[in-house]
Amino acid sequence: MTGKEYVLNVLEQVEKRNENEKEFLDAVKEVATSLIPVFEKHPEYMEEGLLERIVEPERQIMFRVPWVDDKGRVQVNRGYRIQFNSAIGPYKGGLRFHPTVNASIVKFLGFEQIFKNSLTGLPIGGGKGGSDFDPKGKSDREVMRFCQSFMAELCKHIGLDTDVPAGDIGVGAREIGYMYGYYKKIRNANDQGVLTGKGLAYGGSLTRTEATGYGLVYFTEEMMRANNLSLDGKRVVISGSGNVAIYATQKATQLGAKVVALSDSNGYIYDENGINLEVVKEIKEVKRGRIKEYLDYVPSAKYFEGCRGIWTIKCDIALPCATQGEIDENSAKILVENGTKVVAEGANMPSTLEAIEVFQSNGVLFGPAKAANAGGVACSALEMSQNSMRMSWSFEEVDNKLKNIMVNIYKNSAAAAKEYGQEGNILMGANIAGFKKVADAMMAQGIV
Ligand code: GLU
Repeated sequence: MTGKEYVLNVLEQVEKRNENEKEFLDAVKEVATSLIPVFEKHPEYMEEGLLERIVEPERQIMFRVPWVDDKGRVQVNRGYRIQFNSAIGPYKGGLRFHPTVNASIVKFLGFEQIFKNSLTGLPIGGGKGGSDFDPKGKSDREVMRFCQSFMAELCKHIGLDTDVPAGDIGVGAREIGYMYGYYKKIRNANDQGVLTGKGLAYGGSLTRTEATGYGLVYFTEEMMRANNLSLDGKRVVISGSGNVAIYATQKATQLGAKVVALSDSNGYIYDENGINLEVVKEIKEVKRGRIKEYLDYVPSAKYFEGCRGIWTIKCDIALPCATQGEIDENSAKILVENGTKVVAEGANMPSTLEAIEVFQSNGVLFGPAKAANAGGVACSALEMSQNSMRMSWSFEEVDNKLKNIMVNIYKNSAAAAKEYGQEGNILMGANIAGFKKVADAMMAQGIV
């Protein structure tokens, strides 16, 4: 059987088995098709059924999360944790609290996490979790009661050396704090390394808050440098206004670029003079408000309803940092027509498969999510190391390690692409480099 036949056969099985899970199927398709040349070169991977095994989660947990709201009413949400692959280390990946969370979303995120975590070069396996709970509009007490109920079940499945969750959309320092407090109470154990993204007062790492956004910009800078380009003086559009978008804006600005737009799920702002980040932080981190409130502070800026319009703004660099599927084929075509040279993904799978095709066939430098946004989870692994050593490193120390990791992810992805005859295709290179390490570990560990 050729590598191509093998991949197509496995994809057919995956489609049959997961027919209603579009996001998961897209993620598998993207990775598996990149791996065809790897299977051609390593028939032993086919003989050991590596692809069939890697697309099947080792374990998947779904549970009821009942809690009582401020009016005394009972609410019920659904909780998930997927433990996808532990070949190279404990399951590691965030928890997402958002109404769109379902089995397919958690599964695609968990699948992507396997390769992302492998690319960091650190010993972490792939996992993910979350709930359809929406923290938006809830009081702190409601969020706390929800987090406690969620952890009452989750704590049975996680542990320092088994599975280490962290944040994702809707889960930040507040939620991690409530969940850690409850874990500690139930277990009577100060297992700080069981969750990452903690507050600095109880085992958190400096730079973790900034890590995904900073890492995205370090990756972008390296990808541009390798192509004789620089961030200096470039116009940047960033979608989202959460943790990733905020710190990507900060680092891009520090490196001489001008960020002119940000968004949230209602609409986007455009500020020709460059986004004033202090204002955005006040709105999003302190008031937990909406991005349109930016105009109350900066009346010369503009606000537009709806999210997709952000990709019609002329820019040199686009950094999608909101959510999956936010750049479709049409938006990708508009970006290309407007002369965008670089797209790097801060969110997980923000470009559809069709959009990626548009970027690649038009020579856009494309930094895929699992490589470009790996800085967050990399820094989480550094937080785990500090917790194990009961030490904490300085901001500069962690930031330097983060920068090295991002530069290496770019270099390893570029090298893998070249080795397999696809020079410049960082998407393919990242899939191959991420897969190889996990594959070799799985080969060594037998059929498990
Ligand atoms: N949710 C982040 C991601 O998508 C971070 C995960 C972590 O720190 O474990 O990679």
